[in-house]
Amino acid sequence: MFPDRVLSGMRPTGALHLGHYHGALKNWVRLQHEVECLFMVADWHALTTAYDDPSIIGRSTWDMVIDWLAAGIDPDKATIFIQSRVPAHAELTLLMGMNTPLSWLERVPTYKDQIEKLAHKDLGTYGFLGYPLMQAADILIYRANQVPVGEDQVSHIELTREIGRRFNNMYGREPGHEEKVAAAIKKMGKAGKQYQELRTRYQQNGDAEALEAARLVLADCANIGREDRERLAGHLEGRGKMILSEPQPLLTEASRLPGLDGAKMSKSYGNTIALRETPENVTKKVRAMPTDPARVRRTDPGNPEKCPVWMFHKVYSDASTRDWVVQGCTTAAIGCLDCKQPVIEGVLAEQKPMFERAQPYLEDLALVRRIVADGCERARARADETMHEVRTAMGLVY
Ligand code: ATP
Ligand code: MG
Repeated sequence: MFPDRVLSGMRPTGALHLGHYHGALKNWVRLQHEVECLFMVADWHALTTAYDDPSIIGRSTWDMVIDWLAAGIDPDKATIFIQSRVPAHAELTLLMGMNTPLSWLERVPTYKDQIEKLAHKDLGTYGFLGYPLMQAADILIYRANQVPVGEDQVSHIELTREIGRRFNNMYGREPGHEEKVAAAIKKMGKAGKQYQELRTRYQQNGDAEALEAARLVLADCANIGREDRERLAGHLEGRGKMILSEPQPLLTEASRLPGLDGAKMSKSYGNTIALRETPENVTKKVRAMPTDPARVRRTDPGNPEKCPVWMFHKVYSDASTRDWVVQGCTTAAIGCLDCKQPVIEGVLAEQKPMFERAQPYLEDLALVRRIVADGCERARARADETMHEVRTAMGLVY
């Protein structure tokens, strides 16, 4: 329906870590060669949790963009922009808020989780409840159909798809519309006949009473679900086309990279390795990683499945190194420090070209600012195209 387009973003809330890289950024780098990509600094999203201390946002934004460039994002291929510099995101968030059921937001799995996890913060705010809706607007405003994210974001992309679909059903039409309409009418049974007669009367004569009556028939019919009801409500008034995309998440292999302690790598857990962590720190941090707790002495055999270092081997080591680890660990032939050495080397090898690519940008911040200013301009133009259709579809062009 729409040309393939990718949108993804990250919150400027501190230095990027290997979880961000393996969970999302790696896919960004790959996708930029294949389809049109837009990558967003999600500063408004950072505000949803850092509203009481927003200074982190300004401090992290440029560094984060440099991290992206260091990871291999090519500004000639991808569009890099800042969310708050494309105010139309706020307009679409507001407009979509009109018909988004509160219950959809309340049941997003991360909502209650995060409130509990960040108990020291008051997240009982309108902004925090609404941020998945804002995220939906970020994606839908570009009619993106692929969203490369980590596993924790999948439920948000599902919600985005629901919101896009609801919008299309209410104000437009989805692919295979005719067939779905016909099937839904059939499901209605006797009431379907009534619905069709009333629809014809309304469409041919503009009979307002028939329109009202048809709506009642729809509301009273117990044979169809919400989606079919919305579809037939749209069909009743002969609505036209698909306005917004219905996007899919795109996951990497390591879509939930564990941290140094085995829990999900996250700034708030203090278990991260930064993307541009110094080699000395990488070595120190990996050497200090806990291992299989049952392996107390060097002579005790270990179980890789119970060891956070093994999870890093799965990401960083080839098959023969992994065989060496399993063999050596389970027979106590190697010690934990031996086992950690290839991981340290793997991380350092991955980071080396990143330091090199970051250098010119660190020396010339004006260059970074220019890249972002260009990106914001391109993003605004794209967003305006969609907003024109959205406003028209929602009856706001008069
Ligand atoms: P942190 O928890 O460290 O503050 P975050 O999750 O708040 O990070 P976001 O900006 O919300 O950071 O996420 C940016 C992207 O990185 C998202 O696509 C998210 O799914 C992904 N991501 C973050 N942590 C990991 C991880 N440990 N493994 C895989 N992907 C991750
Ligand atoms: Mg964050």
